[in-house]
Amino acid sequence: PLYQKATYLKSVPTIDLCPDELTHEVAFAGRSNAGKSSALNVITSQRTLARTSKTPGRTQLINFFTVDDTRALVDLPGYGFAKVNVKVKRAWEAGLTTYIEKRESLKGLILLMDSRIPPTEIDLIMLDWTKAIGLPVHVLLTKSDKLKKGPAKAELLKLKQLLKEQYPHATAQLFSSLKRDGLNEVWNKLDEWMEY
Ligand code: GDP
Repeated sequence: PLYQKATYLKSVPTIDLCPDELTHEVAFAGRSNAGKSSALNVITSQRTLARTSKTPGRTQLINFFTVDDTRALVDLPGYGFAKVNVKVKRAWEAGLTTYIEKRESLKGLILLMDSRIPPTEIDLIMLDWTKAIGLPVHVLLTKSDKLKKGPAKAELLKLKQLLKEQYPHATAQLFSSLKRDGLNEVWNKLDEWMEY
């Protein structure tokens, strides 16, 4: 698929510095350690793509990977870092909200959640924000290989029930970077949002 051609474009601290040639982008967000980098690497079939965004100094930035001239995957800063002080956290929240609310080329958000951990407060805040502005979300329940088939399915059903009741703008699937499970389903979602 096209996503294998993704290449690092740039990292920016704020929305006003985002590249202006893009018409379609899909952003990836999630708590630190949810498996975002691994997922990005598997989705783009590149072993080191998302390491670029883990380069010290870039973890707090919005990282762009272009797929073609007008489309990009966007790696957002991981959230839930406990050791950061309140001021930094506030600034980060403000920056992220602005990007999600104002970025016109943003067509959808891939939200990564560890399949073994119930949605955290910040995950729910992300779902609330996106619901308020009508931005579609697709949740990847990551590291699904760490659960047996039955329990993994049960977690997915539980989440789908919550989404149905409170977050109808969101869909969800199981995903394993290790096993490459769920890859076609994510690619299809990206195609839909990218209008390929
Ligand atoms: P990030 O902080 O969200 O970018 O998370 P990473 O992609 O760096 O992954 C965090 C940890 O989870 C690493 O130790 C990964 O090896 C592990 N991990 C990520 N995805 C998977 C997966 O699909 N299966 C398993 N078993 N481990 C995973």
